[in-house]
Amino acid sequence: MTSHRPDVLVVGAGVSGLTTGVRLAESDLRVRIRALKEPAETSSAAAGAIWDPIYAKHPRVEFWAARSYQVFEALALAGLPGVRMVDGVEASRTPIPSPSWASVLPGFRECGPDDLPAGFASGWHYTAPIIDMPPYLRTLSDRLLAAGGELLFGSQLQSLGEALADADVVVNCSGVGARDLVPDPEVQPIRGQLVAVRNPGLQEFFAEHTDELGEMTYLLPQGEVLLLGGSAEKGEAEPVPVADVAAAIVARCSEIFPELADAEILGHRTGIRPSRPEVRLEHEDLGGGRHIVHNYGHSGAGVSLSWGCAEDVTALVRDILGD
Ligand SMILES: Cc1cc2nc3c(=O)[nH]c(=O)nc-3n(C[C@H](O)[C@H](O)[C@H](O)COP(=O)(O)OP(=O)(O)OC[C@H]3O[C@@H](n4cnc5c(N)ncnc54)[C@H](O)[C@@H]3O)c2cc1C
Repeated sequence: MTSHRPDVLVVGAGVSGLTTGVRLAESDLRVRIRALKEPAETSSAAAGAIWDPIYAKHPRVEFWAARSYQVFEALALAGLPGVRMVDGVEASRTPIPSPSWASVLPGFRECGPDDLPAGFASGWHYTAPIIDMPPYLRTLSDRLLAAGGELLFGSQLQSLGEALADADVVVNCSGVGARDLVPDPEVQPIRGQLVAVRNPGLQEFFAEHTDELGEMTYLLPQGEVLLLGGSAEKGEAEPVPVADVAAAIVARCSEIFPELADAEILGHRTGIRPSRPEVRLEHEDLGGGRHIVHNYGHSGAGVSLSWGCAEDVTALVRDILGD
């Protein structure tokens, strides 16, 4: 533990905690992040991760997603490792109109029947950020440290009161951990699993559009690796891969691209999505100069919303600190 008391303690070192920590530290605040799990062990490290705002709810979701798109696009242009802008198709098995958020994106066009795999009724083509999470989380950690932030791992906080011993302002980015830490029974775990295979040469993504998280079929190219998805097992809180789930993912993806049936499996990724009826991003004034800003419950869209949420949290914190 260092001797300087930080202005802000951030709980959590997944994509929410690191991105928020970076924005706070780069606005000249002294920031400490405390987390049980290091970035590489978090659910964030398991994500695919394609920018797509559909699997989280909050009136500001489209704003947060649009802002995050801009930042990811700039990071990709700057050549940040693991951040790519990729063309591809999102498609629905039922006929639906293209969503309003999609129609403003680069490369947008409605798909015709010839553009869609068998079993899909409508879809749209666009360019999306796809992020290779392990290297991306490493660059966020490096960026935080370069801005003077601290990272402390390995201890599980029992309460947010314990966190307030470190700083008068605590930002709660504990993901599914918020269920016990807050405690917030509205947070429910949804396990997700992906299969990493050697990419046989796919350059474009394909993502199934569903109203709710479920057994979606998606393929996310990341250079020589192709991530196949996905699953959504409600109530499952252990991030362990299940062989039957992996086999079903490969089978569904092979229906669209038959060459994947024999693709070499490189590994499995499993994480726990922090599902909540609505993202919780708000200031809780505990009195006596003690404040908590919550930033959790991003369900299946935490990467896609990360920069927009981090900027809203930073504005709240600066307001609390009277800047
Ligand atoms: C398979 C899969 C695929 C996904 N695909 C996508 C995608 O394509 N696009 C997208 O946008 N999103 C995707 N998601 C969702 C996304 O991964 C999550 O929304 C996001 O990772 C949540 O990040 P977080 O930082 O809030 O939580 P986490 O990554 O879970 O991090 C929580 C942090 O808090 C710490 N913590 C928790 N409790 C405590 C405590 N009591 N004391 C100390 N530390 C604590 C943990 O140790 C950890 O460091 C996917 C998720 C999965 C599982």
